[in-house]
Amino acid sequence: MDIEQFRKAGYQAIDRICEHFYALQEKPVMSQVKPGYLSQLVPATPPEKGEDFQIIADDFQRCIMPGITHWTHPSFFAYFPTANSFEGILGDLYASSVSTPGFNWVASPAATELESIVLDWAACLLGLSSVFKNTSRVGGGVIQTTASDSVLTAVVAARSLYQRNHPDVPLESLVIYTTTQTHSLGAKAGLILGIKVKALEVKLEDQLCLRGEDLEKALEKDTNAGLRPFILIATVGTTSSGAIDDIPEIGEVVKSYPDLWIHIDAAWAGCAFAAPELREKLYVKEINETAHSICVNFHKWGLVNFACSVLWVRDRQNLIEALDITPAFLRTKEGDSGVVTDYRNWHLSLGRRFRSLKLWFVLRSYGVEGFRNRIRRSIKLNEGFVELIKQSPNLTLVTEPSLALTVFRLAPKSHLDSQSSYSLAQLNELNKAYHASLASRSDIMLTQTNINGIFCIRLAVGSPFTEEKHIQQAYNVLEEEAKSALQLWKQ
Ligand code: PLP
Repeated sequence: MDIEQFRKAGYQAIDRICEHFYALQEKPVMSQVKPGYLSQLVPATPPEKGEDFQIIADDFQRCIMPGITHWTHPSFFAYFPTANSFEGILGDLYASSVSTPGFNWVASPAATELESIVLDWAACLLGLSSVFKNTSRVGGGVIQTTASDSVLTAVVAARSLYQRNHPDVPLESLVIYTTTQTHSLGAKAGLILGIKVKALEVKLEDQLCLRGEDLEKALEKDTNAGLRPFILIATVGTTSSGAIDDIPEIGEVVKSYPDLWIHIDAAWAGCAFAAPELREKLYVKEINETAHSICVNFHKWGLVNFACSVLWVRDRQNLIEALDITPAFLRTKEGDSGVVTDYRNWHLSLGRRFRSLKLWFVLRSYGVEGFRNRIRRSIKLNEGFVELIKQSPNLTLVTEPSLALTVFRLAPKSHLDSQSSYSLAQLNELNKAYHASLASRSDIMLTQTNINGIFCIRLAVGSPFTEEKHIQQAYNVLEEEAKSALQLWKQ
């Protein structure tokens, strides 16, 4: 393809993407293909001779689009929706055009310098302390691929710091603390690094958040048994129910455990820090005081297309000490002089995508006010959904709604009130069948979770295209399927 052919194909691609967005509402949310569908459409070996690009572009529509689940569909309420914005798409396009692996300053000064600046903007947007800003020259922010990479990086840095401070402690004694509600990224970090992971119990009556008292008991018991908890992965906005660990209480407890690194996984809820009225409830002040590292995924609720996970650290030296390996071929005079940031030492890989560009485009185009309003809008839509659930004869909230997330289940109120209510096991079976019927629909997508033995359904609002009418439609579908599930159940 030459430049003029690219121009033509590029215009067509943008036209097709626009048509896709115009038609998005009418498309099934969830891809309707069966496993293995693509091998019927795409040959097993590459073409011997190059093909005409028009055929390739048409095959994207014919073969690939039917296998896409539409995460930005207005009726996508599963997991946490991934962000999408036209500014983000354009940022990715421009970034691809320069194809810089930006691992050090010399590799593309603009990539490094923009990342440093724009992550300071993002820290400002979220109300993070200036100690986390790159301009502090002590702390700083770095864009990782996902929250899983962010946590892995934080655990590696925390382990390295602990081992430098306690060279005699054997690796087998080290423990990563999570809770039963932490995303599986905690267990995965332990698996990859060969380190024990302990999931602390949290209670439904505490809204599934980690309390200081429970952390303190665990720390006492484990340290007395010779174990060395060296990092706690606390969550602000858990995946299952949006629970917020009690950071003020955790902060008090860890004053007696200065070796314990506190990583805050705010992958989803972190973008809500942007709204000043939410900061108290999300413990932003205490996070600023306590956290060694914080992760926020702008690709979840932050309008930036996948992937853009930001990791901020209080002390960049902890990353560099753990991750800096500088063979001769990577040496530069700027890096050696210490006046520039070499991001290769702040994450696991060497090369890295130029992701700050799309974050910059988004933050400039929306502005702080526009960004905040997007967050507020999702929360308001969820509040509308919560009101519908509260009035429903069949559906019941399981936990307090959190920001734009509601966790509920099918539990007819007449039965809950009467003596002959269902047992937990029966309700779980009923809800599994209910969720299976919802999952077989193509016009809506929701995922399930299990909270302390209770099978529940989650509805997460986040798509920029979701409006009140989609919330009402979702509720109508939920009631319709609830009635059918109950009827089947009674037979
Ligand atoms: N942390 C939380 C609270 C999440 O909700 C999720 C995903 O939904 C993750 C971490 C994992 O994110 P990633 O896919 O970026 O690793």
